[in-house]
Amino acid sequence: MSSTLETLDFTVTPAPDPTPVEERERILANPGWGQHFTDHMITIRYSEGRGWYDAKLEPYGPIALDPATSVLHYAQEIFEGLKAYVQPDGSVVTFRPQSNAARFNRSARRMAMPELPEELFVRALELLVSTDRDWVPRTEGYSLYLRPFMFATTRALGVQRPSQDYLFMVIASPSGLYYPQGVKPVTVWASQDYTRAASGGTGDAKTGGNYAASFAAQADAVRAGCDQVVWLDAAERRWVEEVGSMNLMFVYGSGADTRLLTPALTGTLLPGITRDSLLKLAPDLGVPVEEGRIGIDEWEAGCASGEITEVFGCGTAAIISPVGGVRSARSAWTIGDGEPGPVSMRLRDELIGIQYGTRPDPYGWVHKII
Ligand SMILES: *Cc1c(COP(=O)(O)O)cnc(C)c1O
Repeated sequence: MSSTLETLDFTVTPAPDPTPVEERERILANPGWGQHFTDHMITIRYSEGRGWYDAKLEPYGPIALDPATSVLHYAQEIFEGLKAYVQPDGSVVTFRPQSNAARFNRSARRMAMPELPEELFVRALELLVSTDRDWVPRTEGYSLYLRPFMFATTRALGVQRPSQDYLFMVIASPSGLYYPQGVKPVTVWASQDYTRAASGGTGDAKTGGNYAASFAAQADAVRAGCDQVVWLDAAERRWVEEVGSMNLMFVYGSGADTRLLTPALTGTLLPGITRDSLLKLAPDLGVPVEEGRIGIDEWEAGCASGEITEVFGCGTAAIISPVGGVRSARSAWTIGDGEPGPVSMRLRDELIGIQYGTRPDPYGWVHKII
């Protein structure tokens, strides 16, 4: 099978009427988030017995699906998210795409879906970004968000076995500043009614169903005047796991005694690539990191005693998103003075600097595309 994959070439069909330059420039000046898409997309098909075939770069557009298509009923779907960044010399890079490829395949195994060779995953990203290179925003802090995903396409309602056919796609969306008005801390709602993931479930897979199950809790958070949900563990409703769709980091102490704690990957957390990058970066900046656990009551007590000085969420979209306050049905408290703290902002600057090529990349994280 690997020999056929190495020769799996993409059929390229350029968009017959790509977005006019003025229109594209207008979009890139104010792209928002996830609302506009580039002129092309990637599709690769899979069938049991045949493997991956029919790799294409084609004009961006709707896809027709039979109403009995498996994913519409049983939600066998996984996705990834990463960004392409313009460097000071005008080249375009992505950040750790092989890590996204590897995580995509871990998600695939959990959802009983076929794995896509990592090389093919990365090649698909490279082809789309280089074709739509004029869509990578040049404005500082902007990027081209890349969304690889795969779903079950067998036309059948039987649930005795997984789908035999799949479609892998990549689409791309120019994105602006996550915080157009400057980094603003989020207030989070500790949900006692809903959980995101239980032991043995799909919490460590990047699958759409996890998000479908989170919207009711998110609506509660907004009703409570908060921005996002803090997810507690399903068994005890005590241990802090994630915030919204980000991993969490707790800053203890200050100055030379600063240290970080992040909830360990117990199987119910999504193993974030931003999280993993910070686990490597922070110690090199003199901030030791521990993977452990923290209860919601310890979070409150740690803020009351001043032991916990900052808390932030981390993920590809916002990179680092400071948490200013927490609310639950029983309590409410502020972290530090409720403003973004120096450790959060330092880590943010360092990581963004590596991604945008304004700081050296000793880790080999940056992957040049063009
Ligand atoms: C994608 C995601 C993250 C962040 O992962 P990154 O690789 O850092 O973008 C964290 N939690 C959840 C639930 C996610 O889906």
